[in-house]
Amino acid sequence: MEPVASPTDDTTLKTLFEYIDVTAHTPTENGDVTGCDHTFRFTEQWADKNGIDVIDLYQFLNAHGGFCDCEVCFNVEGALFDEEFEDEEE
Ligand SMILES: [Zn+2]
Repeated sequence: MEPVASPTDDTTLKTLFEYIDVTAHTPTENGDVTGCDHTFRFTEQWADKNGIDVIDLYQFLNAHGGFCDCEVCFNVEGALFDEEFEDEEE
């Protein structure tokens, strides 16, 4: 299989992980923490704001094991930027 090209550069891509992390963990007006609902809703918002083709982005994320917002943070960030992965267990 051909490797799937990133639809953007690494610096921009890192803002996606940041965006998901912050958005998913920031309480709403009701005090609910939205978290991941196993869709790409935050990824989609981010792509929209950054003018990135969401279909290209999905293909790239899927190729790196990201099939919803939380997996994008865990799997894709871990796969691409391993040095920033912190193991918080223990
Ligand atoms: Zn998820």
